Amino acid sequence: MATRERSGSSQVGASTFDVRNPATGAVVGTYPIHTAAEVDEAVAHAHQGAVWWEALGFRERARRLNAWRAEIAWGREELAQLMRQEMGKPISDAKLEIAMALEHLAWAAANAEQVLGRRSVAPSLLTLNQACAVEYRPFGVVGVIGPWNYPVFTPLGSISFALAAGNAVVFKPSEFTPGVGKWLVAAFARAVPEQPVLQAITGFGETGAALCRADIGKIGFTGSAATGKKVMAACAENLTPVLMELGGKDALIVDADADVDAAADAAVWGGMSNAGQTCLGVERVYVHTDVYEEFLIELRALAMRLRAGTGAAKIGPVTMPKQLDIIRGHMKDALSRGGRAVLGGLDSIDGHFVQPTILVDVPEDSAAVTEETFGPTLTVTRVRDMDEALERVNASTYGLGGTVFSRRNGRAIADRIRAGGVSVNAFVAHATIPSLPLGGVGGSGFGRVHGPEGLKEFAYAKSTTQQRFPSPLALTTFTRTETVDRIVDLLVSVLHGRKARR
Ligand code: NDP
Repeated sequence: MATRERSGSSQVGASTFDVRNPATGAVVGTYPIHTAAEVDEAVAHAHQGAVWWEALGFRERARRLNAWRAEIAWGREELAQLMRQEMGKPISDAKLEIAMALEHLAWAAANAEQVLGRRSVAPSLLTLNQACAVEYRPFGVVGVIGPWNYPVFTPLGSISFALAAGNAVVFKPSEFTPGVGKWLVAAFARAVPEQPVLQAITGFGETGAALCRADIGKIGFTGSAATGKKVMAACAENLTPVLMELGGKDALIVDADADVDAAADAAVWGGMSNAGQTCLGVERVYVHTDVYEEFLIELRALAMRLRAGTGAAKIGPVTMPKQLDIIRGHMKDALSRGGRAVLGGLDSIDGHFVQPTILVDVPEDSAAVTEETFGPTLTVTRVRDMDEALERVNASTYGLGGTVFSRRNGRAIADRIRAGGVSVNAFVAHATIPSLPLGGVGGSGFGRVHGPEGLKEFAYAKSTTQQRFPSPLALTTFTRTETVDRIVDLLVSVLHGRKARR
């Protein structure tokens, strides 16, 4: 069994835990369970590093972040192997994930100064004597808590942008992928050996909770909504702000004029890759009735060619043992309430592997449609038109991403989806483009990684204004005269008192 155990799991107060390969059950690493005191110590070191890192300025930081990028690129084979060992994804998918993470790192380093650096802004008519500027300053030390499913791309979405903004980072990787987290930190230390600017702490939820309560300026959290709520509660104790990148139940919509083959290809990759363990993965598909049969035949044909397994299989194991029960539960519920498996089904769950499963005729209120399944499963539903598709898509409490396939109306349909990002005629493209912000609404969280918003997420706006000459209208003084009051009154009428035309 590929379970995670604390070393000597029956002993109270174990100080290390084992990580097991989810495909084989073999122990692939043993890591410390850092205590709250050790977390506080790491944060104290990070404060030293933060002062030095901020003082380097944007250009010098960019140079060092680029050196880190090169370290990761050179070591990508080893890193990909580690990802496969710890969470099971195929090597080629691991390397693709690394490639995407490097794109974002490069963008953050190259654009931080332009986005966050000091710039002049215009004053108003009443404050013309002021020279105003805004800049974005780092919080100091940022805590990043990451999940296991994309153990490089996801945490680096926060870490790269937090570092580029001038913060030091203390990173708590998932208990399933601590080796990947430590590898990234070791690569950083080779590029930036001078100070503890990026550190990793390992352990379970308690270690993450200690980081939330430590002396940090912000938490960048990526994970489930249930844990996100705990993180927010812990952060509330010190009014520590949080970025919440949570789960999703993303849908793919296929309109009557869609390229059906391309839509089926996107659905099968979006639903099955990474064994379905993707926050932005396709879990639901809504298909216009005119192309429903054609789409389903193509989708099934593509999914039938896939196999979950070891070796060259394109789908790896399900990483978390407890997720198998959730996948099974969703299937059972769907099948007992009129759903049909046109591929896979309950028999497709074998040990830690789940073979591709396509469910149809699943009631909209079943867990397979409403809750995150996180397995290589899809529900496919026929809709009479795009209004019905959108109504169903937007009924979800989640709002992370979405995909639309339509030759003529893609943008118009995308505009009506309530989600942080939508890709038209391509799956997940918006998450891979470095200049586009990524994040969710509703149950999928708030705040953004990537793009200019992702940089600003790890900085606070600081406004400065300097009086260039005394104002002819001295406003904020007890010496203000009645003449000034009359002029202000007149200006208010002229500037703000005009009635809008009906
Ligand atoms: P979890 O919510 O279980 O865990 C996320 C992280 O939080 C882990 O590092 C975990 O540590 C840590 N943690 C657990 N308990 C606490 C606590 N009380 N205080 C602080 N930290 C804690 O998520 P998963 O790791 O299972 O990741 C899968 C989830 O992440 C899915 O819902 C997925 O959709 C979402 N996700 C969202 C993304 C996005 O961009 N919106 C991207 C990728 C994933 P430990 O592992 O040691 O328990």
